[in-house]
Amino acid sequence: MALEILGFEYPKNVRFKCLRCALCCGDVKDKGRLILLLTVEAEHISKKTLKRVDEFAEEIKGFEPYAFRMKKTEDGKCMFLKVNSCTIYQIRPLICKFYPFELKETRSNRYTFAHTSECPAIGKGPLLKRNYFVRLFKKFAKAMTATRK
Ligand code: SF4
Repeated sequence: MALEILGFEYPKNVRFKCLRCALCCGDVKDKGRLILLLTVEAEHISKKTLKRVDEFAEEIKGFEPYAFRMKKTEDGKCMFLKVNSCTIYQIRPLICKFYPFELKETRSNRYTFAHTSECPAIGKGPLLKRNYFVRLFKKFAKAMTATRK
């Protein structure tokens, strides 16, 4: 996918600024959380943390292009979360960078950003402008390009 393909819709009236509550980093009362990883992300995290991929992730089928899911601690939190803080923040998976948004392909090469109201920061903070979503979309396009190589 070429980076210049920026065919997407985005919500025009959403306020958001992360409160760093870490709710998105693990299971919640009524819902288990799948923290999905692309193969390139799993390999990158492995290289940077000096852990084998199987120490922090397990293979998963049926969620292509994602190939792994992050392992969680006994209390259902991402294994890289320590005291509500992400210890791999700079190299966290795309899915974590996107939250509380996700990209849905509505038709071939057309995407729309949806968001969950589960996140307590939705409706707070600045009104998100197109640039916010352009940055996310570029990260997505770059990851997909690396995945397809
Ligand atoms: S749930 Fe929302 S506010 Fe809390 S850490 Fe995740 S993105 Fe930030």
